[in-house]
Amino acid sequence: MASDNLTAVLYKVNDLRLEKRSIPEPEDHEVLLEMGSVGICGSDVHYLVNGAIGDFVVRAPMVMGHEASGTVAKVGKNVKNLKVGDRVAIEPGVPCKTCEYCKHGRYNLCADIIFCATPPCHGNLCQYYTHSADFCYKLPDHVSMEEGALLEPLSVGVHACRRADVKLGSTVLVTGAGPIGLVSMLSAKAMGATKVIITDLAQNRLDLAKDLGADYTVLLNKDSNEKAIVEQVHQLLGKEPDKTIECSGAESSIRIAIQATKSGGVVVVVGMGRPEATVPLVNALVREVDIRGVFRYANCYPLALEMIASGKVDVKKLITHNYTLEETLAAFETAKTGAGGAVKIMIHCKK
Ligand code: NAD
Ligand code: ZN
Repeated sequence: MASDNLTAVLYKVNDLRLEKRSIPEPEDHEVLLEMGSVGICGSDVHYLVNGAIGDFVVRAPMVMGHEASGTVAKVGKNVKNLKVGDRVAIEPGVPCKTCEYCKHGRYNLCADIIFCATPPCHGNLCQYYTHSADFCYKLPDHVSMEEGALLEPLSVGVHACRRADVKLGSTVLVTGAGPIGLVSMLSAKAMGATKVIITDLAQNRLDLAKDLGADYTVLLNKDSNEKAIVEQVHQLLGKEPDKTIECSGAESSIRIAIQATKSGGVVVVVGMGRPEATVPLVNALVREVDIRGVFRYANCYPLALEMIASGKVDVKKLITHNYTLEETLAAFETAKTGAGGAVKIMIHCKK
């Protein structure tokens, strides 16, 4: 084992540094992980560029990274589910396990959750990192470390589809074809949706969506006419979608989502845009269109892993760029600019 621990630390806005830290010791319920792959998420870039997301403000240096996989290097004395050498996906949020939400299984709503790279909690873009063993999921041999890291965004897609109650025969509209829109589309298909239509402002993202299995795509521009888009969605599908998964964060998309969805259907809002939005609420209420929030995920890693391991879902095509841990600053530069049609950027920590 190495004697030091190269770590990517965000000090403040646009001040990301690679520095050597010590290797932590696992507590009794934890494992020490030699980090494998860590994906860059929009939120990492947001903290880098803005130093905050809503009430979460970077006030002290914070280790980046939360879409991750690793190999068990040491086990705490109470750990029963893992052994040294196991390759695992790391679920980045560890809740309190005792509050009302945790007890009901909705641990994503736990107020005391410790979530990697959400200030003030450190992430795992480093060489060695300790994590609660019960939030690590052993990967079968044929599932790669990159796929293990992609279980994180895929879990958001799984949770969004569960919240929307996507099932066999569902017709689904997804607005926004970034990584989250794409994993929502993949999850919807895997859960039995028979038609999925997806929108975006960027043709390259729609091309990838098509490649991944979208039935229809709709290219928008910032001035697109709302009514015309809703009509186009209905026309392409030959009906109204019964579920809509909003993954762009754009107010105009939430508006389209509500108006396009079938009466009695569901709109789930995953995209986090401005804190307040003007939406056609009466249109939703007189047609009993349910509007539901989505926050991360709970109990979704096992299903997301099953989807990948069984071959039901192929997430590998989301990865457009690869970097080593030493190249972290360049990786974040690419993430910031979106250069080269970047969708998912993967950092490989193991030498
Ligand atoms: P992203 O920025 O890569 O993707 C957003 C996509 O939406 C882009 O491809 C963009 O071109 C497209 N878009 C922008 N405006 C649009 C419009 N008006 N109509 C259609 N498409 C439009 O981000 P991402 O990583 O895919 O994440 C998507 C959203 O989900 C973000 O707002 C993010 O903050 C949010 N998110 C929420 C959760 C949650 O728990 N609720 C978890 C992860 C991400
Ligand atoms: Zn709790």
